[in-house]
Amino acid sequence: GPRRPHGLLDGLDPDQRRAAEHADGPLMIIAGPGTGKTRTITHRIAHLIAERGVAAAECLAITFTRRAAEELHERLDALLGDAAREVTVSTFHGLGVRILRERHEQAGLGAGFRVADAATRLALATEAAGSAEQARRLLAARDTVAWDAADDPDAAAYVRLLRAADLVDFRDLLVLPTRLLAADPGLAAAYRRRWRWLSVDEYQDVDDTQYALLRLLTAAAPDGAGSEPDGTAGGEAGDRANIAVIGDPDQAIYGFRGADVGFFLRFTADHPAAATVELGRNYRSHATIVDAAAQAIAPASLVPGRELRAVGDFTDPPRIGVHVAADERAEAAFVARAVDRLLGGTSLHSLDSGRVTADGPGDLGFGDIAVLYRTSAQADAVISAFNSAGVPFQRRSHDRLLARPAVAQVAAELRHQGQGPVRERLSAAVELLCARHERGGAADRGDAADPAADLRSAGELLAPLAARCGDDLDAFHAALDLGAEVDALDPRADRVSLLTLHAAKGLEFPVVFLVGCEDGLLPFRRPGEPRDPAAEAEERRLFFVGMTRARRRLYLSRARSRARHGRRDEPAASVFLDAIGPGLTMPVDAESATRTRPKDRQMRLL
Ligand code: ATP
Ligand code: MG
Repeated sequence: GPRRPHGLLDGLDPDQRRAAEHADGPLMIIAGPGTGKTRTITHRIAHLIAERGVAAAECLAITFTRRAAEELHERLDALLGDAAREVTVSTFHGLGVRILRERHEQAGLGAGFRVADAATRLALATEAAGSAEQARRLLAARDTVAWDAADDPDAAAYVRLLRAADLVDFRDLLVLPTRLLAADPGLAAAYRRRWRWLSVDEYQDVDDTQYALLRLLTAAAPDGAGSEPDGTAGGEAGDRANIAVIGDPDQAIYGFRGADVGFFLRFTADHPAAATVELGRNYRSHATIVDAAAQAIAPASLVPGRELRAVGDFTDPPRIGVHVAADERAEAAFVARAVDRLLGGTSLHSLDSGRVTADGPGDLGFGDIAVLYRTSAQADAVISAFNSAGVPFQRRSHDRLLARPAVAQVAAELRHQGQGPVRERLSAAVELLCARHERGGAADRGDAADPAADLRSAGELLAPLAARCGDDLDAFHAALDLGAEVDALDPRADRVSLLTLHAAKGLEFPVVFLVGCEDGLLPFRRPGEPRDPAAEAEERRLFFVGMTRARRRLYLSRARSRARHGRRDEPAASVFLDAIGPGLTMPVDAESATRTRPKDRQMRLL
């Protein structure tokens, strides 16, 4: 519809607006959590298109997760309408798939190449390396080591087996396009012309391959071989690269798998012409949460001296609740009761205040609450407490969609059925497989207790993906292949979200429970593993990321006794808790979550 002039930048503060209005040349936005980095970059893209005449098809935005890509696309859609569809919003891996599909021959792949699932990778690696143990080591190294590191013979054999089956793995999705563009400057130049406007969110977590790929997509090779045919150079001299990177060094949490915050920190050295914008106002969280998070990160901050202020009229912001439970089951029970209480369960009605509301009108819903943990094994106790208490939840699983046998069956059947609207084919495929099972004649019965129900739930899992891809079966299969994280988290569902700290990056929730604040989990260490200061600094950043997901209420909990690795430990409290001043926290206990004691007024803060 018609828009007021500059309407697209109305929702930004002056610093954010300055960043969004920066049009030509490199831009770096370096700012803390909740300061509106993602919001700013979204508005910037919309502004470029709607008000600066940039073609939407020339815009490429790279996000860290598919969920973030979808959110960005949705926000652009709200700002721009139809034009948003032309913008490419993708993860690095999605970008890799796209380039490889367009250039499969050059990359030595068949037109129908596929991304190997975890089971296939393990099988091929085992064949190459001789034992499952060696195979796991090979795959782990392959997922973390620099892309130009010399391959060992086992790794080379594994790659040969992959290729023989016309398969690539996740690492290939980054490495092969990078090699392709590095070897063919004309091709790199063509991609640079196609996407003249690049934005990269969460840039603090790029690794060397992603960095190399971005360089190829933005800058000419040093010898000038990659300069544009029209004579413009993309190199250091007269840097015209329209690349905007956004990030926060203190949220760099993927060093363990090869990401290097150094790339972010040297952006201005790579691009001396870069404009740098810092944002200092946190719009997300209550002041207590912002202050406590700043204290928690201080001992390891990569941006010392940074000031983060909360905005908003927070009179008497609530303190952070700290809960100490007897064991992991008691901790989970505390979370379940607190959820019930926050949502106005019976116990809350006798309180005269302390009600938490969602940001919009209305009370809090289950969907406004997240439980964050360091290791996915911690989810088990929470899930069983939620099941007993009747708390609905959704879990973001890191299992690949295709690793579920029923999903793989449905996908194979879909492929079998050929082109058509995907959605119709999907239900047809599910019904066909169910009928086959019910007849009992199928050999592929699997070991599910109720194969038909399992197949139908697989169909339901796949349905949103079908919906998203329309009639494009290839896109559907590509999306399925990329489903490294199921991203089953529906932001609109009225369910509590359970997710790992790593997966929580970039997200926000009115209420956050960060469980397992214990030595060994935060910072994480395997049993017997020595302390490692660099690893601990990254763990502290992870703790910081977790704390800063909370908008209104944050609870930090720990257990005095916890079962881990098949034995029971008595872990000390996380050292990360020590950095938070006592004035910002208050103890809360499980009883207070169910019983109200009027004289105990601080319990209202729960
Ligand atoms: P993170 O580092 O965690 O990714 P971020 O810097 O990307 O955080 P956003 O997610 O963009 O932060 O914004 C945080 C919250 O603050 C969002 O709910 C966003 O809508 C809100 N916000 C940001 N800027 C403004 C603003 N100028 N006015 C009102 N709300 C804002
Ligand atoms: Mg963000």
